[in-house]
Amino acid sequence: MTRAELELPHHGQLVQLASDVYWARFDLPFRLNHINLYLFDQGDSWTVIDTGLKDDATAAHWDDLLAGPLNGKPVERIIASHHHVDHIGYAGPLAEKTGATVFSSADEIDHAHWLYNHEPEDFAKLMESVYTAHGFDEETIAIARADPGRYRRHVAPLPDIITLDDGDVITSRDGEWQVRIDAGHSSGHISLYDRSRDIYLAVDFLLPRISPNVSADLRKLDHDQLGPYLDYLADIEGVITAETLVLPGHDWPFTDGPARAAELVRHHHQRLDQLRAAAATGPMTTAAALDVLFGRVFGPHEVYFAAGEARAHLNHLVALGEFVKTTTDGVDRFERIS
Ligand SMILES: [Zn+2]
Repeated sequence: MTRAELELPHHGQLVQLASDVYWARFDLPFRLNHINLYLFDQGDSWTVIDTGLKDDATAAHWDDLLAGPLNGKPVERIIASHHHVDHIGYAGPLAEKTGATVFSSADEIDHAHWLYNHEPEDFAKLMESVYTAHGFDEETIAIARADPGRYRRHVAPLPDIITLDDGDVITSRDGEWQVRIDAGHSSGHISLYDRSRDIYLAVDFLLPRISPNVSADLRKLDHDQLGPYLDYLADIEGVITAETLVLPGHDWPFTDGPARAAELVRHHHQRLDQLRAAAATGPMTTAAALDVLFGRVFGPHEVYFAAGEARAHLNHLVALGEFVKTTTDGVDRFERIS
């Protein structure tokens, strides 16, 4: 992976990446403290890829972009790459402000509505059952129960969203972007590839510094999310080249994307090996797998992602036929059988 030699965009500023492709960087109130958004110049309008989350800083940043570098041209399309709060959270207000039409994939639209439509008490119950299944102690379960409004806190009411399908083509003034829909970091994640200019807008599926979080899907906790992500990584290695300019959702544009994909494959195989070794001594819960993979994890946000990631790796070992899951008193345990 080689970082592209580009200045980071400051607040209210766009960095040009190709004749009609621009990069903006918005602040996030998390440990991962920023998100990259991309804009396509359509000639007489803009297409925006991702929006930031719902907060005052995002609203102010969009107002400054609209009044400044967007040059008075209307935003016609908003593409939400996936349902995560930092990508879709501000889609509603931005669509309202600009009159833009919002697009995403069918699965991401479903997932966003599913999360948004949970009343806080229902979400608290869901998290209680998930954390119980993970085998967490009472204290950790109580912490999960105590923060049931996270999605709505960071996501404005969802606008009408039009479905994009795998293989659809998005045109920008000077480019044609093929829509890819893959499962892994989320289950219907959109990325865009302009083959003729060799630019791949990977969003959160290929990040240069951190490994994209791959978590079990709260809608179907047993579902194998890692398998399709490993398939994606193997596939994308053969689609893009070392020269392809990769545009990620966090950190900075880079090249040598296939090497980065191969590194992420190795990373996940190491984690699977760690769990295989740990399970040699007996069945393990997701909470125990979390300890094996991450050691001590601090803060409810980190525990949430680490548990999701641990469970995704356990589910993959079940899908491979190496582990089997049993459930006693609501607690899932994973046992090595081969
Ligand atoms: Zn994401």
